[in-house]
Amino acid sequence: MIPAHDRALRRLFLLPILVWMAAASSSFAERQVTKLAEGVYAIQHKSSNDGNVNGNTTVIIGDREVFVVDSCYLPSLAREDIAQIRQWTNKPVGYLLNTHFHNDHNNGNRAYLDAFPSLAIIAQEETKKDMDLIQPGNIQRAPKQMAETIAALKEGKTPGGRTLTEDEKKQVSEMLPGLEQEEAEFKTMVYQPPTLTFVDKLDIDIGNREVQVKHLGRGNTPGDAIVYLPKEKILIAGDLLVNPIPYTFDGYPAEWAQTLQNMAQLDATTIVPGHGPVLHDKAYLYLVHDLMKSTVNQLRARISQIGHPGFHSLDDVKGSVDLTSFRTKFAGDDKDLQAEFDDMTAHLVKIAFSEAAQR
Ligand SMILES: [Zn+2]
Repeated sequence: MIPAHDRALRRLFLLPILVWMAAASSSFAERQVTKLAEGVYAIQHKSSNDGNVNGNTTVIIGDREVFVVDSCYLPSLAREDIAQIRQWTNKPVGYLLNTHFHNDHNNGNRAYLDAFPSLAIIAQEETKKDMDLIQPGNIQRAPKQMAETIAALKEGKTPGGRTLTEDEKKQVSEMLPGLEQEEAEFKTMVYQPPTLTFVDKLDIDIGNREVQVKHLGRGNTPGDAIVYLPKEKILIAGDLLVNPIPYTFDGYPAEWAQTLQNMAQLDATTIVPGHGPVLHDKAYLYLVHDLMKSTVNQLRARISQIGHPGFHSLDDVKGSVDLTSFRTKFAGDDKDLQAEFDDMTAHLVKIAFSEAAQR
């Protein structure tokens, strides 16, 4: 199993890897559709062949049009979702929201625009800025990186140059067709930026259904957006909440805790996380909040002893943050999840330290 932060980097920058590693990890997923209310569906996607995870997609059907939250990582899976939406309704998708800039939530944008030409693609203004900065390069580099990975695997080596074991070679031969298909898919991928930005909020009536889009503060990224359906009491959280282990490879834990507190004020009985199964109460939201808050408080206690973090390194502080009391609450006795939890908390302390240093 590979470290969670490597997986996280791949999610962000598409550093292609070996799918058996993903298959061995607990983040490997199958497609699953959950009906949340009449005309509201959450879609969890299967993992892609290169081991990348696809963000969840939520479909909200109104009397006039459809509102979709996030377009996932692989355009082919976005097209699968579009075909499914067309089975559910003959109304067009009028709005697509990108909850944040990570490409596992917006690579499918163009597929939606091709299918629904009058579509508006919504993002918080910071998310559009980050997407414009990062996504074109991601998309340009991806086919070359995938081609290099495939070439190495065909020579019996990992992308890092290690010779594959016989067992790994067998697994590689099974996954190569899928990887080649994905490489072809990335060659034709086109960057599609958001077309409609907002700062704090945007309320949209899609026909007898009110959709509220909100930026409740920074957390996982500078421009995190959430969606709230007041009548149905459904909250779609993006990667501010990832179930069962948070993604903390970047973000602002002190502000994240506050943003989660703001989120908790909303009267919600169903919560769709950015990845993983749908939640049916706020217990997990509070747990993630408490984890962030505890990290920040312990770090601040240490900083008050040693002085401004700008004069210190991560090594000077990380031993002072103890999050073991949260380990079982997140991971139970699942060994894979425990390993993911440990990687996640190491990253959490790191990003909390750099957030503190920038204050
Ligand atoms: Zn994500």
